[in-house]
Amino acid sequence: MSHVFGPVPSRRLGFSLGVDIVPLKTCTLDCVYCQVGNTTHKTLERNEYVSPDVVIDDIQEVLKKDTTIDYITFSGSGEPTLNSALGVMIRRIKSLCAYPVAVITNGTLLYLPEVRQDLLGADLVIPSLDAITPAIFNKVNRPSSGLDVGKIIEGLALFQREFKGRLWIEVLIVKGVNDSREELHKINAVVQRIAPDKIQINSIFRPGAEKDFECADADTLEYARDLFGPKAEIIGEFKKERTAGSQGTLTDDILQLLKRRPCSVKQLSLSLGVDPKLIVDRIAQMHSDGRIRQTEHDGDSYYSGVLT
Ligand code: SF4
Repeated sequence: MSHVFGPVPSRRLGFSLGVDIVPLKTCTLDCVYCQVGNTTHKTLERNEYVSPDVVIDDIQEVLKKDTTIDYITFSGSGEPTLNSALGVMIRRIKSLCAYPVAVITNGTLLYLPEVRQDLLGADLVIPSLDAITPAIFNKVNRPSSGLDVGKIIEGLALFQREFKGRLWIEVLIVKGVNDSREELHKINAVVQRIAPDKIQINSIFRPGAEKDFECADADTLEYARDLFGPKAEIIGEFKKERTAGSQGTLTDDILQLLKRRPCSVKQLSLSLGVDPKLIVDRIAQMHSDGRIRQTEHDGDSYYSGVLT
């Protein structure tokens, strides 16, 4: 399987060519809202799970095609900073093309100097911070043993001082878990101290690992945006129109996307630059073959890949 997917329409990065460098699903956390599903390999140990040569070959294949790319983004089946070759990969991508490189990370390993060093070559780093109170952190992020919020915050603060690129912090708010005014004020105090370039407020807008958790109320999201100040935004739906075709056969492209994140027909259509009617026909076939499954979330149908 290729370690590169998309470009997918990302709510914050436009057309993002995803680079997936850890096996499904390897992470330091097991967030209740994770779109990839439950963490099956929860660890703090870094490893060269995928070699830089393989990843660079995959990227070069995509770059040969006429594809719209706004960012090359490390994200996917788990936590990218767990791959110990991340720094080498970023440097090699930067020497290969002019596209900006983004890393979406949970930020839990930023206390390690070698992780901060690896990320220095990126243009944009987006760590998350969902809770300050340890009991809430444990409930929403279900961390590996050995992680604590104080260490994570210290890592974030150190990274902000060393990093020359743009730093956005994402706060994902889950109804009834980290949405109290008290917790939002605690998060805000830390975020203001770190002073990122942007604060992105997110919630469970797509189906997550655990069905019992819900999207925060609109009032709460707006309260958080006002509290966090002018750099804060609630992440909205993707708007940009695609201008170039997708990479492989339609069925393969749909599967590649759905194995990494649940998508609606509209999102698949935008991502792949294909008429929604074609997507509907194809997913009906894939659903009856048992290759994808359907979930209802907030009145929309989402599809995700069935793991084999
Ligand atoms: S949301 Fe991110 S940090 Fe949380 S479990 Fe999923 S991959 Fe890991």
